[in-house]
Amino acid sequence: MRIDIMTIFPELCENYVHASIIGRAVSAGKLEIFCHNIRDYTADKHHRTDDTPYGGGMGMVMTPQPIDACFDAICAQSGSRPHMIYMSPQGQTLTQRRAVQLSKLPHIAILCGHYEGVDQRVLDKLCDEEISIGDYVLTGGELPALVLTDTVARLVDGVLASSACYEEESHYNGLLEYPQYTRPPVWQNRAVPEILLSGDHAKIAAWRKEQSLLNTQRKRPDLLATKLQQQ
Ligand code: SAM
Repeated sequence: MRIDIMTIFPELCENYVHASIIGRAVSAGKLEIFCHNIRDYTADKHHRTDDTPYGGGMGMVMTPQPIDACFDAICAQSGSRPHMIYMSPQGQTLTQRRAVQLSKLPHIAILCGHYEGVDQRVLDKLCDEEISIGDYVLTGGELPALVLTDTVARLVDGVLASSACYEEESHYNGLLEYPQYTRPPVWQNRAVPEILLSGDHAKIAAWRKEQSLLNTQRKRPDLLATKLQQQ
């Protein structure tokens, strides 16, 4: 899979996508991630990428020309038109289900807004979808783009050791995960549940299933209600 991030702060994104599990997957060729500086594509003689809003009001608006040119360059470089996502507090809230769907696409591009946002005309022309990371407003789309990139990238084949790594995790099947424990078996008088030390894999699996349901009931009863409705 290829992911192109369009931003006026590529350095914020570069560091993240070249570190840890995602960085290792990029180095191993399991996925490609490119960060593009929208400013490199501006035709403005002062290299500006924003201007004052028509109609007046506070702040600046990102101009359409450099975003359009950046997108064209991505299409030309890759030889394909990516599914184009604008990170926006006005978009559909990101879910694990949507991340799974996006991870099956061969190529996505992610546009990070800044200031008051992006000129609507270039969004109308290029964007296939707006995605929000929650009902609150950040200063820019870089953190949201990295959230989306991370959650999608870890679902791409070969990025994690096996699909079991994410299939048992919270939200994959609509429930929260069971509690996790590691060494030592007793820590400050708190013991690991005995069943986990038993070596009986069938009993451990049953215990985890039960704990997953209890965890969901306790922390997110709304999720459990939705899950039960679907059955
Ligand atoms: N004026 C816009 C509005 O009211 O809808 C908000 C602009 S916000 C200050 C600047 C940029 O941050 C947005 O263009 C978007 O890319 C990003 N952003 C802010 N909050 C976000 C969120 N919850 N999810 C995704 N992107 C967000």
